[in-house]
Amino acid sequence: MQFSNKILNTPSSFIRNILKVTDSPNVISFAGGLPNPISFPIDALQEAINNSIAHEGAKLFQYSTTQGYLPLREMIAAKYRKNFGLDIDASDVFITTGSQQALEILGKVFLNKGDGVVMEAPGYLGAIQAFTLAEPEFYPVTLEEDGLNVAQLEETLKNNPNIKFIYTVPNFQNPTGITYSREKRDAIYEVVKNYDVALIEDDPYGELRFSGEALPYIGAGRLQNSVLLGSFSKTVTPGFRLGYIVTKNKEILSHVETAKQATDLHTNIFAQMTIAEYLTHNAYEEHVNKIIELYNTQATAMLNAIEKHFPKEVHYTKPQGGMFIWATLPEGISALELFEESMAADVAFVPGDPFYTHPNNVNTLRLNYTNATEEIIEEGIQRLGNIMKQFIEK
Ligand code: PMP
Repeated sequence: MQFSNKILNTPSSFIRNILKVTDSPNVISFAGGLPNPISFPIDALQEAINNSIAHEGAKLFQYSTTQGYLPLREMIAAKYRKNFGLDIDASDVFITTGSQQALEILGKVFLNKGDGVVMEAPGYLGAIQAFTLAEPEFYPVTLEEDGLNVAQLEETLKNNPNIKFIYTVPNFQNPTGITYSREKRDAIYEVVKNYDVALIEDDPYGELRFSGEALPYIGAGRLQNSVLLGSFSKTVTPGFRLGYIVTKNKEILSHVETAKQATDLHTNIFAQMTIAEYLTHNAYEEHVNKIIELYNTQATAMLNAIEKHFPKEVHYTKPQGGMFIWATLPEGISALELFEESMAADVAFVPGDPFYTHPNNVNTLRLNYTNATEEIIEEGIQRLGNIMKQFIEK
């Protein structure tokens, strides 16, 4: 049998593969990126399911519209009007099967084989995977502590007219946990507005901020080719697979609609109606605040443990929200080799390699703190710190 180059050249998810080995019960795992299941509002969702069926009946079980359930789109638009002053309404919102599907659809909508995509380096590996299916040329731009390197971004855009879009995660980025500063956001906007490219801001973590102040988006609200992505995965439940695209650009939306029809006709209407019902009758902000409190405690525990146990030569990010910390080992030390040693001591993390479009045995790694207790975090980081020390002394 022969398969397409598209699929043969697309990496299978490294994380999903390593989770198979890291999932054993005696392993302390900082490898996954899952929301903590204790944050799922199960009782309230149960009630919402019952109420939706009682009120909407067969509509929950019928085919539905491609763009998504109107009351849900209205609620999403209202949230961005209120929180960010964005001038949007339900017609600017498009519901997708998780924001992951939005990425795949945007790849289809924008990219011919060989077209350019600017990626954060390191960047979200699910985006690398989704875009790779469209066979693009990736242009990595270095992600610094406060966002993309602006000079490098400008140079890349200037030299590569095949670039169709720039992909960013401006808040509590996956994998690094970093947040773009206000100055960087403005500087990136000033550059991007001069080019005929789209700017994708993927923001599944933005509401999970435990310190600092919320910042305006880079392009949303001011750039004509702005595409903002959101998700209910980290704030309510990932299992419903509900994400969305927000853009005022109707040309983009009409192509998204065609691609979505070809992909799955529409997003699960049972889930859309249930979440709309949930949002109508529950205090969403209060719920999100509980998640923030939980993740803040876990992040603090991990940062304190790192401070205590990691060798001084190891640098790490201090996230203001979200789910991840990114550590950088001294030059020349392989995170993949460290991973092997660390697994022998039953501690898992994700080596940095899959987060780069052109990986080269890197010295970086991702740590997730949302799925372990403070005690387990302390124990796991201590073990990892000891292994790092042995590696550095070698
Ligand atoms: N974008 C980023 C940056 C993510 O970290 C994730 C989830 N890991 C997604 C998109 C996909 O989220 P979902 O499809 O569940 O909305």
